[in-house]
Amino acid sequence: MIKFCSLFSGSSGNALYISSGKTNILIDAGVSAKRIIQALESIGENASELSAVLVSHEHTDHTRGAGIISRKFDIPIYANENTWMCMEKQLGNIGINNRRCFNTGTEFELGDISIKTFPIPHDASEPVGFNFFLKNTKVTTATDIGHITKSLLESLYGSQLILLEANHDIEMLKVGPYPWNLKRRILGDSGHLSNEMAGKVVAYLAENGTSKFFLGHLSRENNFPELAYQTVLNALAEKNICAGRDVMLSVALRDRTSDVVEV
Ligand SMILES: [Zn+2]
Ligand SMILES: [Zn+2]
Repeated sequence: MIKFCSLFSGSSGNALYISSGKTNILIDAGVSAKRIIQALESIGENASELSAVLVSHEHTDHTRGAGIISRKFDIPIYANENTWMCMEKQLGNIGINNRRCFNTGTEFELGDISIKTFPIPHDASEPVGFNFFLKNTKVTTATDIGHITKSLLESLYGSQLILLEANHDIEMLKVGPYPWNLKRRILGDSGHLSNEMAGKVVAYLAENGTSKFFLGHLSRENNFPELAYQTVLNALAEKNICAGRDVMLSVALRDRTSDVVEV
């Protein structure tokens, strides 16, 4: 059985937790180490028992607390080489034993959990999403998605639980306060995933067997939880899928720990 919890999710900072009971993994550490330690405590877990910190890409909303967590508890950080090169300075001194590298697209083991990374189109050096496998269970996390590709959909396919980005409402973003070049970046192929597109992806995956969904990495300025939820709910309803009855649909919040969900 895999336990999953979103500790923090949003453009202001991301940290997700996944555990088999034996292997405890932090996915991104984009808020302060102190807040991550407290959030773990609030769900009955201890940061000193983390097996690893995985980093999806070098943007600070994914890396802010990683260096301190690693040094304080002697925990290895896993990222691909390009991400390491870009985040090395922000992280501070990381012992050679705790500087672990994976190749995007390959599979590696952490205790009893197998991890497969897959590329994500986004404006970072080599951003990835993660598949976690324990026996027949597959859990996937994918945020900071500029656009959906066929290979990305294949990576999401067949998961029991997914945390997927629902970053912005397209209309809110267009009329919102961001300067035009930032709007263009977010809407572009290497930016972030809209609620509308997340709805399409969730509906497709729900039709194909995925039963638990978290929407994450919501923008503070261009989205709000009820809007993301309702947009995806509508996309599911179009396929006659009812959230709460047929699938679990939940919004991962920026400053509140989610329920711990088991699959
Ligand atoms: Zn990013
Ligand atoms: Zn991000």
